[in-house]
Amino acid sequence: MRALFISDLHLEPAREDITEAFLSFCDSIAPDAQQLYILGDFFEAWIGDDENTPLQIKIKQSLARLSARGVKIFFMPGNRDFLIGQGFADETGITLIPDPLVVDLNGIPTLLMHGDTLCTDDEEYLAFRARIRDPKRIKRLLSLPLVIRKLIARLLRLISKHRNKNKSIYIMDVTPAAVEQAMCTAGVTRLIHGHTHRPAIHKVPLPEGRGERIVLGDWHQQGWYGEVLESGEFRTHTFKFSSQNPPS
Ligand code: MN
Repeated sequence: MRALFISDLHLEPAREDITEAFLSFCDSIAPDAQQLYILGDFFEAWIGDDENTPLQIKIKQSLARLSARGVKIFFMPGNRDFLIGQGFADETGITLIPDPLVVDLNGIPTLLMHGDTLCTDDEEYLAFRARIRDPKRIKRLLSLPLVIRKLIARLLRLISKHRNKNKSIYIMDVTPAAVEQAMCTAGVTRLIHGHTHRPAIHKVPLPEGRGERIVLGDWHQQGWYGEVLESGEFRTHTFKFSSQNPPS
């Protein structure tokens, strides 16, 4: 079985080059895999499955086509698109998965996460996350008119930008203690996550031996995906955007 992994595309109308790159990924790369895991921050923003912008429609159609071709798509929401719900899943044929989740990938138990909960030095963010991700609050939020949700999203984005401006890059990275704890609790030696935009494969010292932490790359400047081969080996791939819309 071949499984592909992507995260942090941050799809948005202002970045047509990323959208085009994802559409071509769906047409020419992903169909050869059996599974595709999207580990969050796929969209730059998501305020409810009822929005239906031209970008969203295009992406939904492309996911639905890929599902119809037999690729099983799993979607774990990130901090930007946690309001994605069952409506989106029904339209695209994807399966929503919780964060964290352990899956068996060619015999290797693998912990999948978006990655934001591993950044435990950022206490302010984690407190905010706990509040905003409360199911009751989400339900209330989604019951508001679309135009109000748009305003709230814009406001939250401004607040987050302002807060992050004064945070060191270390605060916004994962902490070794959180990584070890997550992997030990899950009983795995392999972890795959995104969120930090620092693609790498790190060795992780664990009580039972050596583990590895795979960080997926973002799509700000190029296409990026990871692949678990039949042998269990993890490989990373990048590709250039074809359209002329250089990242700012
Ligand atoms: Mn994120």
